[in-house]
Amino acid sequence: MEYRKLGNTGIEVSVIALGCEGFVENNDMAKLFFDRAEEAGINYFDMFTSDPAARDAVGKALEGRREKFIIQSHLCSTWKDGQYVRTRDLEETKAAFEDSLARMGTDFIDVGMIHYCDADSDWEDIVGSGILDYARQLKAEGKIRHIGLSSHNPKVAMRAIEEGGIEVLMFSVNYVYDMLPATENVDDLWADEVYEGGFENMDPDRQRLYELCESKGTGISVMKAFAGGDILDEKMSPAGAALTPVQCISYALSRPAVATVCSGARNMEQLDASIAYVDAGAEERDYAEAFAAFPKVSWTGHCIYCTHCHPCPAEINIADVTKFMNLVIAHNESNGIHEGTEEFRVPDTEREHYRVLAHHAGECLACGLCETRCPFGVAIRENMKHAKSIFGY
Ligand code: SF4
Ligand code: SF4
Repeated sequence: MEYRKLGNTGIEVSVIALGCEGFVENNDMAKLFFDRAEEAGINYFDMFTSDPAARDAVGKALEGRREKFIIQSHLCSTWKDGQYVRTRDLEETKAAFEDSLARMGTDFIDVGMIHYCDADSDWEDIVGSGILDYARQLKAEGKIRHIGLSSHNPKVAMRAIEEGGIEVLMFSVNYVYDMLPATENVDDLWADEVYEGGFENMDPDRQRLYELCESKGTGISVMKAFAGGDILDEKMSPAGAALTPVQCISYALSRPAVATVCSGARNMEQLDASIAYVDAGAEERDYAEAFAAFPKVSWTGHCIYCTHCHPCPAEINIADVTKFMNLVIAHNESNGIHEGTEEFRVPDTEREHYRVLAHHAGECLACGLCETRCPFGVAIRENMKHAKSIFGY
């Protein structure tokens, strides 16, 4: 298993995490899922459900091994009349949280995720109803260790991170949603008519969200990495071609700030298909050629940090150099500062990330070899010059 830092939380999480879909549908499977997860080195799991039976089943599955798992569990996810209901009622939220601790047999949750906020008005409700303050109180009491938020909307997520100090974001990350503009209606992400006519490049708000998370130290845990299975199926995929689960996971993990991908596996075979990422070689993980061949999607001129252009004879990590350069530009732009002005600055975090790279943009030989390998026609030599001018070397 590979592990990554979850933003600035100080937690190291496995790059593959366990979703709860499999044992929500069949509670009897919970122990088997956790056994397989432990065996594979998975240490992170998401518990969005409020289903009492699923919570009980997880409590049993965790008996004697609570310390081996980092729990991401959702505030505002409640259970009424035998059904899951999202609430913004403070008393209902408190009762559901205490229920989650009791049923899962723990006295703290590692990441308390404010559940499913896709609209500005909803974020305002979360703040106005006292739920954000409640999350902060739980953190102060040690009942949750970090405050998270789950969302599908990049604009609302950015607002929550800026205004609410969100430490962990659960976000829907796959190349299809990444091309769509922000929406307050999650159904827009899978409506057939949205995909008519094809697509070009990443939506700028989604790119800004990932860059903001990286720059603020907000860790991302990914949901919907397979777009509900659509992008694994050539007939369903809006791109007109399928990716493998390993390629989807590889794509999500190459977005800035992403630490872990939750596998919403409904059976053990699906969980194993996600775990297979860990032993997959570079060729199996490579999604760039598949992207370049998509009949209905174009990424021309846009670096997606796929590393397909490596290796470089000067040993420059082209994807990282480009990413850090873009992070610096995005950080300045988010403060209304443009390149070429006196106010333009390299933030300390990016300066340090760039410094520790083994080789830097200034070492580029301008040989152009990388450009022959980039499937997206990125002007890499220009990018290296640009990065040198920003970082100075
Ligand atoms: S320059 Fe091209 S090949 Fe290299 S990381 Fe960016 S998109 Fe991938
Ligand atoms: S052009 Fe520069 S970055 Fe590209 S392969 Fe040559 S030395 Fe490396």
